[in-house]
Amino acid sequence: MHLPLRASRVRPRFVALLALAALACGSAGTASGARLARAEARPAGRGAEIALSGPGMREVKAKAFTLGRPARLIVDLTDTVLTPRAPRDLSLRLPGVTGVRLAQYRTAPDVTRLVFTLAAGAPPPSWRLAPGEGANETRLLLQPAGPVTLSPPVVEKQKQSWVVRIPGVGYLERRTGALDNPARVFLDFTNAEVPATSGRNISAGPIAQVRMGQQSPEGEQPVARVAIELRASQAFDEKVEGEDVVVSFTEVAGREKRSPGPRGSYDVPLPPEHTVPSLRGKHIVVDPGHGGGDPGTQWPTADGVVCESDLTLAIGLKLERLLKRAGAKVTLTRREGDPYVYPSERRDLTNRLGPDAFVAIHCNSVAASLKAEPPKSASGTEVYYTSEDSEPLAKAVLEEVAAELETRDRGVRHTTELAVVNHACCPAVLVEVGFITDKDDRARLTDEADQGRAAAAILRGLARFFAEEERE
Ligand SMILES: [Zn+2]
Repeated sequence: MHLPLRASRVRPRFVALLALAALACGSAGTASGARLARAEARPAGRGAEIALSGPGMREVKAKAFTLGRPARLIVDLTDTVLTPRAPRDLSLRLPGVTGVRLAQYRTAPDVTRLVFTLAAGAPPPSWRLAPGEGANETRLLLQPAGPVTLSPPVVEKQKQSWVVRIPGVGYLERRTGALDNPARVFLDFTNAEVPATSGRNISAGPIAQVRMGQQSPEGEQPVARVAIELRASQAFDEKVEGEDVVVSFTEVAGREKRSPGPRGSYDVPLPPEHTVPSLRGKHIVVDPGHGGGDPGTQWPTADGVVCESDLTLAIGLKLERLLKRAGAKVTLTRREGDPYVYPSERRDLTNRLGPDAFVAIHCNSVAASLKAEPPKSASGTEVYYTSEDSEPLAKAVLEEVAAELETRDRGVRHTTELAVVNHACCPAVLVEVGFITDKDDRARLTDEADQGRAAAAILRGLARFFAEEERE
């Protein structure tokens, strides 16, 4: 008869829960008696590395295991003294890792312990040691766990709202946005892939359909999108609940006032001391022209190609920051890495939000056929508008920008041709800050300080416009 394996009988139950994995790394070696004097974290490829240096650190050995509640990856450096000079905390940019601490775990034998705290539900990164650059350096290389395959989202009805639950991805880096035509909210998850089968089609309450699709990768990491198509545009909330990402749609009677626009860093509070009275509480939609694969006008220079879409976003982000500091509420129609947003979508977003003003930012160019004739190169600032009530705003913005940047004042221009300003919901202007095709204008457009001055000038134009409006 066989006796049960002794180990399985005496092993305490909690060991199975806590020690999820145990690994050893490095060749069998001699005691190194290393002293860890410096530890420095830095990005490496799609992962990160920690350079560990000090006397004897080149030969250091390590072993690792994971612990639960809270989830941690433990890397023990054997025969290693943590010197007082070494840092006790490191900030590491690695998906699923929320922090790294260093401690002298024990003495005689000496063990220096690195504790990586993991986000809820995040698998531990894989790791290995590699020789460092100096004679006394070893690198701890960390790779995020392989791409996560999304589980099909689930729709739930809660008291006042409909909820789309995306299971197990709360720890992943994500970007959320909203688009029109059809109205939809999308969430892009980095280091994620869509499953081969997409599950059953969901259609309930305000939700017409939930789709998943692979987006273009971010660096080496795959990006998976969950798109929630809606029967009509409406506000949403998004949060991490346990290990899941939860998007909820509250059914509200009447006109929707809350912003379903770009989110993320958008809500960062700024100190109130620079409030501009006429801008306080005003909601401004700022539309950096082009983007999402549409570079706008491009101009080759010795340092590379200047793209209009980069310049408009740079000015737009600065304007957003300044406006918020002035006490206004700002919605940007696009941000870095957003997919292409059609002019009609920018207009529809604006009309849905019902802001107090809309400002599109563009850079001008002479027709490609004229590029060969620099002497004829046009230059200067001009501002387009459609509705009558936008004209004073166009004038105020033009005067401020042209004066601030010392560009040629080309006047305000009435047009019915531009989709973004050709709508009546609020005063709307399109600023052509300067000509990419003109050498002097281009120097201003590409200069960071001048971009800030352009943004400040647009802000002053808005402030003047609202101040004059209040006086009437
Ligand atoms: Zn443009």
